[in-house]
Amino acid sequence: MNIQQNLTSDTTRQREVVDALNAVLPKGAVLFNEEDTRPYECDGLSAYRQLPMVVALPENEEQVVGVLKACHRLKVPIVPRGAGTGLSGGALPIAEGVVLSTARLNRILKMDSYARTAVVQPGVRNISISEAAAPHGLYYAPDPSSQIACTIGGNVAENSGGVHCLKYGLTVHNVMRIRMVTISGEVVELGNEALDAAGFDLLAVFIGSEGMLGIVTEVTVRLIPKPQQARVIMASFNDVVTGGNAVADIIAAGIIPAGLEMMDRTSSRMVEPFVHAGYDIDAAALLLCESDGNIEEVEDEILRMEAVLQHSGATAITVSQNEAERLKFWSGRKNAFPAAGRISPDYYCMDGTIPRKELGRVLLGIEEMEKKYGLRCANVFHAGDGNLHPLILFDANNADEFHRAELFGEEILELCVEVGGTITGEHGVGLEKINSMCVQFSREELDAFFAVKRAFDPPQLLNPTKAIPTLHRCAEHGKMHVRKGELKFSDLPRF
Ligand SMILES: Cc1cc2nc3c(=O)[nH]c(=O)nc-3n(C[C@H](O)[C@H](O)[C@H](O)COP(=O)(O)OP(=O)(O)OC[C@H]3O[C@@H](n4cnc5c(N)ncnc54)[C@H](O)[C@@H]3O)c2cc1C
Repeated sequence: MNIQQNLTSDTTRQREVVDALNAVLPKGAVLFNEEDTRPYECDGLSAYRQLPMVVALPENEEQVVGVLKACHRLKVPIVPRGAGTGLSGGALPIAEGVVLSTARLNRILKMDSYARTAVVQPGVRNISISEAAAPHGLYYAPDPSSQIACTIGGNVAENSGGVHCLKYGLTVHNVMRIRMVTISGEVVELGNEALDAAGFDLLAVFIGSEGMLGIVTEVTVRLIPKPQQARVIMASFNDVVTGGNAVADIIAAGIIPAGLEMMDRTSSRMVEPFVHAGYDIDAAALLLCESDGNIEEVEDEILRMEAVLQHSGATAITVSQNEAERLKFWSGRKNAFPAAGRISPDYYCMDGTIPRKELGRVLLGIEEMEKKYGLRCANVFHAGDGNLHPLILFDANNADEFHRAELFGEEILELCVEVGGTITGEHGVGLEKINSMCVQFSREELDAFFAVKRAFDPPQLLNPTKAIPTLHRCAEHGKMHVRKGELKFSDLPRF
């Protein structure tokens, strides 16, 4: 009898929300049957799944406003969703909530080659911006490896990075202005098409806020001229510490490469049979160092990088001789994640950032953890930014392996914090790293994050339960930030 009552009340609630959304959206833009909502049950963190109550597919800003006003009135949580490639569970639905998909907000509204800007809707794929800008000799620099699928709205929410971000900056450095809708349905513009905007820099606050402050409906991005030439060096190292130190040496020599990526032996052996990139699979570590600019600049920078790499202990150095070879060298790096799927049923991609000089120490620490947890880990990452992406290989059907993979991931992030780094690089906190936030931040800092959230979203309906842990969650997790030996949250019970 009780179960029946619950079912009835759930269905009544779903009907109420569907009716409210149907009133503001066109036919076919509100999904609620299980077979229609199933594709939205997870993002790239596919080990975690949850069917949403309803999915809304608005086609313009006015409809986004309508969805938000309806959800605000009915007190329904909303999870924004771009392409669902996020790796931290940011777009994971909430059972009693609405997923607001930007799939139909996918138009490039303006391409201004004089101002070198583009105005796009949030559901436009990252690579589509560069494709549309190419005839003007321009491109959009931030290039996540997922760029053929991920959307600019998702990039803004995650402050995404990519191979070229070391030299050209992250999303936050390449977005000039956004339009967004608040939970109460108000349309707000942040930033400016000029170099700076008056008042507080709320654009910077918003970028990287993981769908918790508002729904992005329009983005103005900065475009830059395509370089005349690009070449890449592939350098081999006999151990990961020497490879890691070479990364720090290049930056210390005053060189900012257009890309500086590292792959360990597990990664190169994983990817080579897949893409035949010509990698030295006997090397303990490979560095890919790209130079771009005019022909003279590239020639000079390649020579300088070669000299540093030799001095730092590289055992072999190959320089791409043409564009086809350059793309071949990068193809392995860009396909490392899919290649992991060939040797392991599941992988767990971690994302922490550390000072470059600590790369060797942390990679050795990860090697030790492989033994401790009895799981393999492949490292392929943005070395120039100190942004690690350990891929923990495991089988999600084996509950014990899954649990060990989670503990392994947490310990990597704790090591990142210990060496002076952070628990996120570019994939966000989402649900995946929410417990690790307790380790990195103090009670005061978490309170400040909640204060920002409440200022934008007083009823806390936008992507709640993600990114910022409550103090009780930290207490339950049993891990808390301890600074100078002083135990925080001493008033909360330990579990
Ligand atoms: C193979 C692979 C490689 C990857 N490589 C990289 C990489 O190199 N660099 C990198 O940074 N990331 C990488 N990622 C992670 C992911 O692609 C990025 O985080 C990307 O920005 C997510 O975009 P999305 O459109 O898929 O967003 P989703 O996954 O749909 O959503 C991500 C977050 O953004 C929020 N959101 C989405 N749209 C909006 C909106 N309009 N308004 C407000 N909030 C919104 C969601 O609520 C969620 O919190 C990779 C992922 C995969 C699967």
